[in-house]
Amino acid sequence: MAKVAFLGLGVMGYPMARHLKAKGHEVTVYNRTAAKAEKWVSENGGRAVGTPREAAEGQEIVFACVGNDDDLRQVTLGPDGAFQSMGKGSIFVDHTTASAEVARELHAAATEKGFAFIDAPVSGGQAGAENGVLTVMCGGDAEAYAKAEPAIMSFARASRLMGEAGAGQLTKMINQICIAGLVQGLAEGIHFGKKAGLDIEAVLDVISKGAAGSWQMENRGKTMNQGKFDFGFAVDWMRKDLSIVLDEARKNGASLPVTALVDQFYADVQKMGGRRWDTSSLIARLDK
Ligand code: NAP
Repeated sequence: MAKVAFLGLGVMGYPMARHLKAKGHEVTVYNRTAAKAEKWVSENGGRAVGTPREAAEGQEIVFACVGNDDDLRQVTLGPDGAFQSMGKGSIFVDHTTASAEVARELHAAATEKGFAFIDAPVSGGQAGAENGVLTVMCGGDAEAYAKAEPAIMSFARASRLMGEAGAGQLTKMINQICIAGLVQGLAEGIHFGKKAGLDIEAVLDVISKGAAGSWQMENRGKTMNQGKFDFGFAVDWMRKDLSIVLDEARKNGASLPVTALVDQFYADVQKMGGRRWDTSSLIARLDK
C-alpha cells in the first residue's frame, strides 16, 4: 500500500480518492474549496491539508483531477503547488483532461526535479468514477507507470501506457473525436425518425442489435428521445475537450471537419441554455 495524495475533489476526484482509501492506501486530500476536503475526511478518514504543496510532501504518488491546463499549472507549478515539495523518485499522476503540450511541459519540469509525471486522463464519466471502473489512458516513463499502475487500478477497470509524455492526452482526444461525430449521427437519426412518425423506441431497439449499435445508442438513445439531458459529462466540458482536440489538429495537420462542425453545434446548445446539459443534448438544437 502506498502513501498518496489526491488534489481536486470534484465530481471525478471525490470518488476516485475514496476508492484509493478503500483499497487501503494512506490518503491525504487537498481541495481548493476546503469544506469539500473536510467533508471527504469526515466520510472516509485520512487527512486534509490547505495547499497542494503540503499535500505532496513525503508522498509516493500524488494524483490530481482538476479542470483545465491553467488549473493544472496552478496546482503543480504555482508557489503553493505540488512540484515545490514532491520528493525525488515520487510520481505525479494527472487525471485532468488537458492538452498534450501541458503534459510534456510538466513531464520536463518533473524530470528536472527528479520525480516522474504521468498524464492519465480518464473515460467513463461520473458513474465510472463512483463505481471504480474508469478507463485510464497514460503517457510517460514505463518504470514510473509500472509503479503507479496498482494504485490507479483502485478506481479503474483498465489502464494502459500509450507512449511517452502526452500520449495519454492524445488518446483521450481520439476518444472525444469518436464520441462527437457519433452523438450527432444518433441525434440526426432520432430526429429523422420523429419527423417520419416512427416509434423511436422500437426503431432503437431493432437497429441497436445491428451495425448501427453503439454505447451511446444503448445508453442515451431512449433519453435523447425523451429530451432528458442530465447524465453527467457537461457540454461546457465537452467544448473544453474539443478545443484541445482542434488545437492539436492544427499542429499535427489532421483533418477533422465533422468534429469542428459538432463543436459549433455544441456552441449552439450552450446558447440555448444547455451549458450543464450532458453531451447527448445535441438533439435539442434539431428538435427545437
Ligand atoms: P469538477 O467537478 O468541476 O471538479 C473540478 C475540481 O478541480 C474541483 O475539486 C475544483 O476545486 C478543482 N479545481 C479547479 N480549478 C482549480 C484550481 N485552479 N486550483 C485548485 N483546484 C482547482 O470537474 P470534474 O467533473 O471532476 O472534472 C475534472 C476533470 O476530469 C476535467 O478535466 C474533466 O474534463 C475530466 N473528466 C470529467 C468527466 C465527467 O464526467 N465529469 C469525465 C471524464 C473526464 P473546487 O471544488 O474548489 O471548485
